[in-house]
Amino acid sequence: MVDTHCHIYLPQFQKDIQKVLDRAAHAGITDIMMPAIDIGSLEQMDALTHPHIRFHKMIGIHPCDVNTTPEGPGKQLFERGDADEIIAIGETGLDYYWSKEHISAQQQSLREHCQAAKTLDKPVILHNRESTEDLLDIIKEQQDGRLRGIWHCFNGTPEQGRRALDLGLYLGIGGVVTFKNAGVDRVVADLPPDRLVLETDAPYLAPVPKRGKRNEPSFMKYTAQKLSELFGISLEETDRITTENARRLFRLS
Ligand SMILES: [Zn+2]
Repeated sequence: MVDTHCHIYLPQFQKDIQKVLDRAAHAGITDIMMPAIDIGSLEQMDALTHPHIRFHKMIGIHPCDVNTTPEGPGKQLFERGDADEIIAIGETGLDYYWSKEHISAQQQSLREHCQAAKTLDKPVILHNRESTEDLLDIIKEQQDGRLRGIWHCFNGTPEQGRRALDLGLYLGIGGVVTFKNAGVDRVVADLPPDRLVLETDAPYLAPVPKRGKRNEPSFMKYTAQKLSELFGISLEETDRITTENARRLFRLS
């Protein structure tokens, strides 16, 4: 399985990283995609190794961090993002929950990330919180046939989900789908499985029954289990479909 969104390089994992990775490998995780929070994230990602897991880096500036990089990602996205070791551009997106005063900077940054993703022919990874309509409007404006990517931690309505699919996006399904009152499960059940990918967003948003704890890649099995129930298919089938989707989108060999 591919954990398509995991901040495994953060200090929360420093103490027991090898054990966390052993548990991930044991749970069937073969690939971990690491979205950046800022340009400095790249150096933190370098330290990770495991005999049975492949690590894939992304470059980007999280929408909650655009104010600490007032000059924007600019040329760095295009120059450093071109390297083979960079699998995608992100995470970018919009977050009106944490920061309403930087909305225009967030939107500008999102546009730059989309342009880099198109130029470099790599997926863009999108964060969204209380900003869905603006996010989809900007993706629509940026979509010229070349843009592909993931709306990570999908949390939209059925219409918003379908709009995102129509715009060419995949939807990242994480622990929230297991939360009782979130309602994401009912929305996801109506979406086509061939456009969904699994993610943890570790160390955040651990699925039930680990809700509230530090999330880690091995917990993705609970999210996969939930998807199996929603679609009425076996866990093996869910693993196969979502892994295939991730491999197609990220063009993994
Ligand atoms: Zn993230």
